[in-house]
Amino acid sequence: MGDNMSKRLKLISATEAEMEERSFPNPHPDWDQGLLTSTSGADVDYNEPFDAEGKVSASFQKKVQNKIKDLLQQMEEGLKTADPHDFSTYTGWTGIALLYLQLYRVSQEASHLQRALDYVKRTMRILNGRKVTFLCGDAGPLAVGCSGPPQIEQHCRQQGLSVQAPPAAARWELTQVDEDTITKVVTAIVESGKNMSAEQKKTDRCPLLYEWHKKQYIGAAHGMAGIYYMLMQPGAKVHPDILAELVRPSIDYVRHKKFRSGNFPSSLSNESDRLVHWCHGAPGVIHMFIMAHKVFKEEKYLKEAAECAEVIWQRGLLRKGYGICHGTAGNGYAFLTLYKLTQEKKYLYRVCKFAEWCLAYGTHGCRIPDRPYSLFEGMAGTIYYLSELANPEASCFPAFEL
Ligand SMILES: [Zn+2]
Repeated sequence: MGDNMSKRLKLISATEAEMEERSFPNPHPDWDQGLLTSTSGADVDYNEPFDAEGKVSASFQKKVQNKIKDLLQQMEEGLKTADPHDFSTYTGWTGIALLYLQLYRVSQEASHLQRALDYVKRTMRILNGRKVTFLCGDAGPLAVGCSGPPQIEQHCRQQGLSVQAPPAAARWELTQVDEDTITKVVTAIVESGKNMSAEQKKTDRCPLLYEWHKKQYIGAAHGMAGIYYMLMQPGAKVHPDILAELVRPSIDYVRHKKFRSGNFPSSLSNESDRLVHWCHGAPGVIHMFIMAHKVFKEEKYLKEAAECAEVIWQRGLLRKGYGICHGTAGNGYAFLTLYKLTQEKKYLYRVCKFAEWCLAYGTHGCRIPDRPYSLFEGMAGTIYYLSELANPEASCFPAFEL
């Protein structure tokens, strides 16, 4: 037994070491409800950066605004050496255009809209018709071009660009395309999930199953949680029977794959509890639970979401950097979305603490991403996240939350 025990201890400490390797220990104290309600006089402590009224303090907002300006300058400088042909939402110019549209929404400054338009024009010159997805293909730039403020739409139409939807761009179609096309795409997604589930003999346990590159991924970017999330969108108009009989049991199947830590595996075949990213792990799966709570009105989904938020708070300050796909800002969106749902100050506080971490961009010795200024991997995503502080109620994970 002694031997076994020491083996087990070794195993545990190896796992812990690996977890540690991927994230920084969170140095921030967690939200303290007692502090907010304390009335014990002038020397009372508040949950920094909240003020006495329980609002995000003006000085913190100012710091965030200044950092946005500073990072925008760095980003523009850095983009001079970025790949001129990458028009994608994920790592290319469309992502940058989306950032400027967001900054325009938040600030109403015309210069941001002008920038967005410049980047959209740029993408329109280099589309290649090879892929049709929103994040990596032509659909992203076309949708951004056609759905933004009128000036952008007008420009796209002047160029004679087609606004017809390519068939596989599910995320785009939910916002842009006629109902008929949405129905076709949604039906294709449901059928494909049913077929895969039947093939794997999982119809009873997980009626909608998907794989990508031969793996059954779970996360928001490549996996089942992202697909179920989209199917539950009101705009997808999935029939309530399909939601109840196919989507819901599949969500419960994923629910039972949870690690003891509260995190989720990256794929059904992966047993290691390592990644706490939007793309793989709890920070993506949480969006599925929040949507499931809205659709099925069951408390258990909200409880799952709250548990995801705990592991993100513990292990969400990532060594991989500050981006939204696999970085601290993307993890911060989990708190934003939960805050929007629950109105609990605790989550807004955590949003601020992750933002505070991002204010020290570049000082933690994080890995530098391949596309360091892009929307999904790099600085543009961090700026996007910081810009949400101005109006958290209206926040939306770019190209994901609708
Ligand atoms: Zn990622």
